[in-house]
Amino acid sequence: MKTRSVRTPGWLRDTAAVGSVVGWLLLAASCTGDVTGPDRERAERAAALGITSAELGDRIELIAHDSMGGRATPSPGLEMTAAYVVEQFRAFGLRPGGDQGYVQRFPIGAGVPFDAPNVIGWLEGSDPGLRGQYVVFSAHMDHLGIGTPVSGDSIYNGADDNASGTAAVLELAQAFAGLEPPPRRSLVFIAFSGEEVGLVGSRWYTDHPTIPLADIAANINLDMIGRNWTDAIVTSTSSSYLLQVAQEVASAQADLGLRVIEDPWPEQNLIRRSDQYAFVRYGIPGALFTSGLHGDYHQPSDEAETIDFEKTARVTRLLFHLGLRLASGDESPN
Ligand SMILES: [Zn+2]
Repeated sequence: MKTRSVRTPGWLRDTAAVGSVVGWLLLAASCTGDVTGPDRERAERAAALGITSAELGDRIELIAHDSMGGRATPSPGLEMTAAYVVEQFRAFGLRPGGDQGYVQRFPIGAGVPFDAPNVIGWLEGSDPGLRGQYVVFSAHMDHLGIGTPVSGDSIYNGADDNASGTAAVLELAQAFAGLEPPPRRSLVFIAFSGEEVGLVGSRWYTDHPTIPLADIAANINLDMIGRNWTDAIVTSTSSSYLLQVAQEVASAQADLGLRVIEDPWPEQNLIRRSDQYAFVRYGIPGALFTSGLHGDYHQPSDEAETIDFEKTARVTRLLFHLGLRLASGDESPN
């Protein structure tokens, strides 16, 4: 645009002045991240409502589709799933958090001539004093692949385990990316591979972190969140603080109709059985969120039509509010 040669009318000058004051306030707010009050609450509620059962359902159906072949580590279907997550992270405007763009490749095992992808994207926090701390959301995108047929079906689709958690991490990333200004701490979103063969991808990530482990405030890991109770979600956590905050958030968001239940199955040792353990073993506060086992667990019948998309959306919204609290509060869990 060229320099204006005509004199700006008075009303426009006034509008511009008001605009610049508002702009300055927004800039000041976005610099400190210190945005509270009704407008901020409205923006946060709107972002949470962007997490919908329709979008979650589409993502779960895509990831758990027969064409993904059950996403074994390694497999072409797993690579296709990783490429989808990369494309989505890019579309949301996340920063690449891998060591090759969004991707971090890891060897599957000693002497095994294959590697597999983790996908990592992140959002920088708005508070210069806190943005060096990270809240990490994660879910494994791999499953069991093609195996022994059951009732003529050999594709282990892993819709609940764990297309549900992967889809939720995508929805969380989208919701946080749409919030302006972002929360005070930085947020990291990871889709791991190799979970089903021994937490290989998450162990590799925490052994070869792309951010300092000491700066990770908490890991919130989602594994199988789409089945069972419609009014509750289970957490298995290494941190009583995370349990307490999750329960407070569930009470504050009563319209979601969800209770947070402390792990009722200690004999299953859930804390060691999904990717949060890769963080917990380093002393990082970690929490698994899950709706628990069911008859289709690790069966070809774990398919998208068995998933309660509406409940999954409420769980994901709850975790969005938990993430807001962890990333915006004065107190760090770590
Ligand atoms: Zn599994």
